[in-house]
Amino acid sequence: MNIILFGPPGAGKGTQAKNLEKKLNNFQISTGDMLRDEIKNNTEIGTKIINNMNDGKFVEDEIVNKLIEKVIYDPQKKDRLIFDGYPRTLEQAKNLNFLLSNTKQKIDFVFFLNVKKDTLIKRIEKRKILEKRSDDDSETILKRYDVYMETTKPVLDYYSAKSNFKEIDGSLKIDEITSKISNILRV
Ligand code: AMP
Repeated sequence: MNIILFGPPGAGKGTQAKNLEKKLNNFQISTGDMLRDEIKNNTEIGTKIINNMNDGKFVEDEIVNKLIEKVIYDPQKKDRLIFDGYPRTLEQAKNLNFLLSNTKQKIDFVFFLNVKKDTLIKRIEKRKILEKRSDDDSETILKRYDVYMETTKPVLDYYSAKSNFKEIDGSLKIDEITSKISNILRV
């Protein structure tokens, strides 16, 4: 089963992806983590993306799509994907469709974790203290939220028109959200 977790920064996609990874024996595919690893490992990609990442802007589609391609062509991960933070643009959604159909896969469910802006900001402020992420300062948080709302609206519109789209109240407790998703997945 392949799943997309969709929602603004701080909606809890990563937390839910980790819970579902265990339940489904799937793989969390976090483009944010993959990009942060590129920076940490000082790769060529890392040097290209560091400014955008620190400013809370999106990384270019071409770079993110290339990273995702490797994952989708990995036979071990076939039909065991939990996308966390991808796709974020229509170009990325198109690329995902293409790669999935090339590998005879599909998206089974899209879960939209819907959370209000003020709740998100409080959550990210907390995460900043726990995880010390360089893009979690107050100004960048607001920027990331605005960029997200502007750029991903067409992606949200695209997926919400499909029958496998499920909106979940992302302000609920972590376990409540996991059990809502699990009920839909029947796991
Ligand atoms: P995240 O960990 O998902 O909150 O992502 C952190 C940052 O990584 C974002 O603010 C973007 O700069 C970058 N990023 C992650 N995923 C994507 C994506 N699918 N497209 C473009 N940029 C991304």
